[in-house]
Amino acid sequence: MQVSPAVIVIGAGVVGCTVAHQLARSGAKVQVLETRQPGQGATRASAGILAPYIEGHELGALRSLGRRSLDLFDPFISQLRADSGHDLIYRRTGTFELALEETDVDRLRRLSSALSASGVESRWVPPADFAKYEPLASPAALGALLIPTHGFVGVMAVTLAAAAAAQKCGAHFRTELGAIRVFASPMGRVGVEAGGTSWQADHVVLAAGSWSSQIRVEGADVVPVKPIRGQLVQLQAEPGAVQRVIWGPAGYLVPWPDGAVLVGSTVEDVGFDESHTEEAVRGLQAAAVALVPSLANAAVTSVRTGLRPRGPDDLPILGRSAVVPGLIYATAHYRNGVLLTPLTVRLVDDLVFDKGSDPALRDLDPARHGRL
Ligand SMILES: Cc1cc2nc3c(=O)[nH]c(=O)nc-3n(C[C@H](O)[C@H](O)[C@H](O)COP(=O)(O)OP(=O)(O)OC[C@H]3O[C@@H](n4cnc5c(N)ncnc54)[C@H](O)[C@@H]3O)c2cc1C
Repeated sequence: MQVSPAVIVIGAGVVGCTVAHQLARSGAKVQVLETRQPGQGATRASAGILAPYIEGHELGALRSLGRRSLDLFDPFISQLRADSGHDLIYRRTGTFELALEETDVDRLRRLSSALSASGVESRWVPPADFAKYEPLASPAALGALLIPTHGFVGVMAVTLAAAAAAQKCGAHFRTELGAIRVFASPMGRVGVEAGGTSWQADHVVLAAGSWSSQIRVEGADVVPVKPIRGQLVQLQAEPGAVQRVIWGPAGYLVPWPDGAVLVGSTVEDVGFDESHTEEAVRGLQAAAVALVPSLANAAVTSVRTGLRPRGPDDLPILGRSAVVPGLIYATAHYRNGVLLTPLTVRLVDDLVFDKGSDPALRDLDPARHGRL
């Protein structure tokens, strides 16, 4: 293991910037290559919800990774605040998942029992008690599942704080410069071609999100990551009107301290199209009103879109390449990239500094998808 390895990180989304920060803190000489500017991929659209017991309903591995990563969030945010000096919005006020039909009641009550059995705090809230938690939640709801440990974070702020903190630790960002090719170099090093130049490093971290498949890795299969568009609108409400993340069958709300409410999101397979549609804006407004009827009067202040990087099994692709020594994949975080960021950072740091093999890497091994 080298004390001060040279590392090139490809992509400056939430994953690339936070990985760059941690590696630079650990003593690596870090360069980041980014086609645009930091945070302009999926990251700019992200709602920042930290909710493994909602998003991870179906997949055991995703839920346990999410749970581990959620546990790392407090120290992760403290470190980032301290190293960057930036102010970050981070709340662990829970999620309030509304049951709008009898089938939702059954599902959420079953989930609540399963969570309690596995030691996760959750509470069934009957409509008569909504006033204590979310007074403006739809009176048509039949109840809600409160999971108090869930939360949300301001994702662009985290990303920009990590980029700033990484630079304070000596990392160098080259923006408006896209990587084209990654290849094995002599002496176990790894090369990256970008903008007509080649760089060499001890490690390369491929964190280009949905665009990861566009970077050619010499001798390897194309990494199977596809873009799934998500649209999200921002409404302006009275500060405090919504207190915590409210979730329902057609969407979710994230309340910011200044009264902004994020409403997400669509899930669309439309290639690399990052534009937004009027139809989605109308659909998201309707979803917001179904959860909190008074939002019918709230103005739309912005619309964001992003391309979520999705792998074949909805799990990240994270680990060493079996083809190009020194290459580490850190991509395909799909709908949970923010939640999974602290764990991703730890796993990549462990790999670069050879700190032993974490069992989570078994589920995420790139080789499960071919010759990677
Ligand atoms: C609407 C929406 C809502 C979401 N809500 C949540 C949520 O509530 N909670 C959650 O956990 N997750 C959420 N996600 C998912 C999360 O945002 C993503 O998983 C996460 O942002 C992925 O981060 P990334 O850094 O891997 O990718 P990106 O943010 O896409 O970053 C990849 C970067 O690589 C750059 N790049 C591309 N090609 C190259 C190249 N050739 N060379 C150099 N750089 C390159 C891009 O410009 C980009 O900046 C949401 C996503 C969307 C779209």
